[in-house]
Amino acid sequence: MVDKLLHLITLLTTLPEIEEAIDRFLEELATSYQAERAYIIEYDFANRTLSNTYEWCAPGISSEKELLQNIDLSVVDDWNRRFEEQGDFYISALHQQLDKNSEDYRLLEMQGVNSLMAAPITRKGKVVGFLGVDNPGEEVVSSELLRATVHFLMVELEKRRMMHLAEELSSTDTLTGAKNRRSYIDMLQRLEINSPRTIGFINADINGLHRINEIFGYDFGDEAVKRTAEVLQEYAGKNVYRISGDEFAAIVQNVEEEDFEDLCRRLRAAYQKDEKYAVSVGSSWVECEGYVNLQQQYKKIHELMTADKAQHLIDARYEVGLLKRGDLTINLLKEIEEGRFQVYLQPQVNLETGEITGAEALMRKFDDQGRMIPPMQFIPQYEVLGLQMHLDRFVLRSVVEMLAGIPEEKRLGSVSVNISRAMMEMPNFVREVETLLKEHHVAPKYLRLEITESVAQMGFDLLKTVVNGLQDIGVKVALDDFGTEYSNLSALINIDFDEVKLDKSLVDGVCDDHKAQTVLKNVINMCRELGDVHIVAEGIEEHPQREKIKQMQCGHGQGFLFHKPMPMQDYLNIILGDNTA
Ligand code: C2E
Ligand code: MG
Ligand code: MG
Repeated sequence: MVDKLLHLITLLTTLPEIEEAIDRFLEELATSYQAERAYIIEYDFANRTLSNTYEWCAPGISSEKELLQNIDLSVVDDWNRRFEEQGDFYISALHQQLDKNSEDYRLLEMQGVNSLMAAPITRKGKVVGFLGVDNPGEEVVSSELLRATVHFLMVELEKRRMMHLAEELSSTDTLTGAKNRRSYIDMLQRLEINSPRTIGFINADINGLHRINEIFGYDFGDEAVKRTAEVLQEYAGKNVYRISGDEFAAIVQNVEEEDFEDLCRRLRAAYQKDEKYAVSVGSSWVECEGYVNLQQQYKKIHELMTADKAQHLIDARYEVGLLKRGDLTINLLKEIEEGRFQVYLQPQVNLETGEITGAEALMRKFDDQGRMIPPMQFIPQYEVLGLQMHLDRFVLRSVVEMLAGIPEEKRLGSVSVNISRAMMEMPNFVREVETLLKEHHVAPKYLRLEITESVAQMGFDLLKTVVNGLQDIGVKVALDDFGTEYSNLSALINIDFDEVKLDKSLVDGVCDDHKAQTVLKNVINMCRELGDVHIVAEGIEEHPQREKIKQMQCGHGQGFLFHKPMPMQDYLNIILGDNTA
């Protein structure tokens, strides 16, 4: 018995390939027991099933392995109880020891088993499977060998399981579950030595992943990466590799050229369906004829992919315009239609009298739970995506419609709308504003458009032309956020604005910061000297600020001290009634 045991252990631990080691082990075990079959059953707790993972059958005995796959775990409930109570067990006469109506009896009878011996395989004290021999020889009644070897088998299985896991982990990308760059290189080397008949190479690259992360956050970026891998796996099978942060490769072997082309077409179409980002796909197919020059293939795919990328770049204006702009536009327009965006109004007042002299329209977005999202959380994204003009247009239209509904004598000055640079750059912008006002019979003097200095980046000539165009049709133009760190005096000098809005950062220090006082006083003087400019101080929150600014000859103010931005209806209620702050 000790000799046999030693022999079995040696087999298990010295043969390099697990399959061969276990096959030989089962063979020796079955022979020792003069059994027809020896096998290992392993439990899969996640799926609540058991499967026959290894089997050895004596000559002339049919294999039962296929039959014993994914069997409901409850079949062995009784056996597990026995394993726990008595360790191993021996059923010497099936029909005497098992209930004939039970599932285990049915399964064993189907396999032609009259007697069997089984010993549990445990991991951390829990039964996770068993080692069994069917129909052992009549004179063999001791299960000692089985019980002694199962321990070694268990240790070996566990060791190999861990090794397999470690191997998998070192060759797998943890985020996507695809194989990693190292295994891609291994695979390429293997293919060079031992090429299949044909190979199809695919590269997929997420466009602008860096910007996607910046704009939508890393969680969104991660989802894009995972989705890209998933789609590639769905079409190209198991040989999918993440070869850099935003780039995947896939290898399809022994595929006909036509089928491969079709596969790539379907893959591209699948990526097209993803709304928020674009994936460039490069592909190349090769008949190996014994040797394949992989470098050449690689170069070809990259050339193709660069061309695909270039097409995306042509389609979109900004880097992140690589995201599908058409689809995003449709989404945004849908959201506007669903009422996700609302125009709020913040009154402006005469600092002397407190009377409302106009208002600024400020956009608000509401999420699906009705929570308000401030503009700085969504406008920059829409700007980068080149979509902000749709929102500006919505605000513009809402304000003009509102003005049309207020009797002239109640309008109390003009209402400002913030205009983004992209909107200003639209070739027919001035005409569009004019038509809108005409359609609603609103005199242009009631509308004022605010532009920030970043708009000045569009170039003075164009800016001047547009501002003059607007003023020619009677619309007022304000320079917003003047006095911020990006202040550009030449904007003020080169263009005759109707209004200059002094940024809150200047107002903040007006009471206790001597420097801020000096700057503010001089900026106000400068604006006054430049001409008949309406000066509005933004972000006044306290009475002393109002007093100081008033003393500096700034005529108008806007701030929480007077009114916070409010829904349009609240604004209408105020101006259609009493209007002093
Ligand atoms: P802005 O045009 O300079 O608007 C003034 C901002 O100051 C508003 O912020 C307003 O709520 C805030 N504010 C006014 N008084 C006070 C105050 O006393 N204290 C404080 N702490 N804040 C005050 P809001 O509404 O968050 O808008 C931020 C910016 O988003 C705006 O700055 C504007 O640049 C942009 N924006 C808002 N609506 C639109 C729009 O319809 N189109 C475009 N293109 N930009 C918009
Ligand atoms: Mg503004
Ligand atoms: Mg401002």
